[in-house]
Amino acid sequence: MIIDQNLRITLEKQIPALREQVRRLYTEYDRRFGLKGAAVPVTFGMETDVLGYYAPGGEMHSAMERFHFSLLFVGSYAERAISKEDRLDIFKHEYAHYMQRNMPIPKEYMWKAGKHGSDWKYCCSLVGAAPTEYYRAGDALIRHDYDKLLKNIWKDPNIPVLDIHHREQAYKKDRDSRVLYQTGETVTHPKFGEGVITGIEPKDGSVRLKIRFRNEEKMIDQKWLKRSTFKKPR
Ligand SMILES: [Zn+2]
Repeated sequence: MIIDQNLRITLEKQIPALREQVRRLYTEYDRRFGLKGAAVPVTFGMETDVLGYYAPGGEMHSAMERFHFSLLFVGSYAERAISKEDRLDIFKHEYAHYMQRNMPIPKEYMWKAGKHGSDWKYCCSLVGAAPTEYYRAGDALIRHDYDKLLKNIWKDPNIPVLDIHHREQAYKKDRDSRVLYQTGETVTHPKFGEGVITGIEPKDGSVRLKIRFRNEEKMIDQKWLKRSTFKKPR
């Protein structure tokens, strides 16, 4: 994109007002979160591929800590007038990056790393920024479900499921370890036929019975047996 001189002039004229808007917004957040984002220099450029960024400074990005915005996105000009809300959202987006770097983040929001990870989304929720990495016009007007977004999908939604599973397992184990027979009782086994219980061995999750069948004595899990109802224990 070739930026003509008139457009450049039009956009550069907006710098003081934009800078003031950023400063006011960030001052309000600073007060709320005990930060100093409004003191960070704000610069503007004509980038066509980047809306803005927060450079923490002293690192790879740039030597100077700063907020930077492209006038082609945050500025207004004849062909393209950005909505007030969308512009604000770009400012919020970068402030959330500033928060991500400068604020202690509660551990429960640290489950997804990355520049636009869960800690950043948590910061978005605090300032009401669209928690999306990529800009889409109108995103600022959407009501974002931060609660849903900030839930660790590997943790939270599975908790009830795991819990139910554990409870079912516990119930099953409990049911399977209950002794259902007594010594002396006559039982029927599908393969070995009728036999008399001579011993009971409760196990963890099962009950093994010593049964004397016609010719042999066997250890059988009680779940394979049928009670011979007409023969009472002696
Ligand atoms: Zn970003």
